[in-house]
Amino acid sequence: MAELCPICQGPNHCCNNQDKSIGSCWCTERIFPEGIFLLVPVEEIRKTCICQTCLDNYKRDEELESPR
Ligand SMILES: [Zn+2]
Repeated sequence: MAELCPICQGPNHCCNNQDKSIGSCWCTERIFPEGIFLLVPVEEIRKTCICQTCLDNYKRDEELESPR
């Protein structure tokens, strides 16, 4: 079972355990920064999808840390 986000344990709403013939998932349209995978337990990487909320949170934090 890989339907929970490995970071927040919330539902990831990803295509991972759904019918891939649908062909589209929010995660195919978004870029996952490499750094976000540091938050994921090694054994979960590429098995469990990160949820949209955690991706957004990560990106927001990243922007705060690099002011221009
Ligand atoms: Zn999450």
